[in-house]
Amino acid sequence: MDSVRPSIPSIPILTIFEKMKRLINMLFICGAIVVLQACGGGSDTPAPDNNQGNNQENNQENNQGNGNEETPDVVDEIGYDVASIMNAFWTKTSYTKRDEKRLLAMERMQAFADLCENTEFKKYYACTEAQEAVMEEGSILLFHSKAVEKVLEEIQKQEVETGHIVMWQVYNMGYVIKTPTHTFGIDLKHKHAARFAPYIDFLLITHAHEDHYTTALTEAMMQSGKPVYSNFVENDYKITEGKTINIVDDIIVETAIVDHNKTDLKNFVVTYRIDCGANTNHCIVYHVGDACDESQLTPTQPINIFIPHLANNLNMPQAVMNIKPDVVLLSHILEMDHPTTKWRWSYEYGVKCCKELEEDGTLKYEKAYLPVWGEKITY
Ligand SMILES: [Zn+2]
Repeated sequence: MDSVRPSIPSIPILTIFEKMKRLINMLFICGAIVVLQACGGGSDTPAPDNNQGNNQENNQENNQGNGNEETPDVVDEIGYDVASIMNAFWTKTSYTKRDEKRLLAMERMQAFADLCENTEFKKYYACTEAQEAVMEEGSILLFHSKAVEKVLEEIQKQEVETGHIVMWQVYNMGYVIKTPTHTFGIDLKHKHAARFAPYIDFLLITHAHEDHYTTALTEAMMQSGKPVYSNFVENDYKITEGKTINIVDDIIVETAIVDHNKTDLKNFVVTYRIDCGANTNHCIVYHVGDACDESQLTPTQPINIFIPHLANNLNMPQAVMNIKPDVVLLSHILEMDHPTTKWRWSYEYGVKCCKELEEDGTLKYEKAYLPVWGEKITY
């Protein structure tokens, strides 16, 4: 029995108002957890695959007939504090399985994310190392920070077999991709992103919005003489038009310039169709940043992994139908630089997007995934 009692994290150096806000939210989380437990939400019973939206009702029905109501301490594998939720994501759930455990972890991560306004997130990015630990305590910021530690550790250890790639979601639309011979990054935004510089061979940036790049990483890469491709960094690799670039060995990138918005920010985003090379069996990753118009997404060859913004006006069923990827990694979830009430899309919204793809009559696409910070993806 590894159940952790719900507790209110100790939060030094916070205003009374912030403390009250966190307390109310924690009580809300605990209340929700009690309700979920009463409904069997923490049990080991796997959810029916085709009915993920109705877990609570199903469990209620199941519990009525099984004479098992007296289990007061249902084993809860997710936990209630940020560290437990984060570890549960990484060790007890998978992006490939949107089961009850995964949904519960998402719900709890969301509750902590809702406690962290973008003003606090910005303060965290500006704070010193000593203040960081204080701000991370009992906060989603701990998850944000540990994700980088995890990815840094794993990219160094990870052996990638011939014919495959391994990738990690770091944050927002930021990914690190490792092939049997090379490692590179796309749209890496993080307070500590510069720490990736020694381990990646090149960096791709889709556009000049701060949730898609980190100046310190760009500078560190350039100081080490490593390529940074973008449409705004002034260097030898600046992209001003759609073209094909042989980056290193047989890693070949096809770029296109597309719109960020339908009315303004025209030609603002570079999309990257990356052929990861012969030793990955030419695995093709198509990262389109904040592209907003599916008619502009016209890669010349088949795509294995499609990485779009899940909510920037793309008609996702149409985009997926056009591109026909093996896998979609819906990204741009919980972008903490945006206020909790605006443009910070939730995992709940991500689940809705996945279901729309699954239920679209013409498509029935079941390989849309919602990776979380620090999570490893193998292909
Ligand atoms: Zn963005």
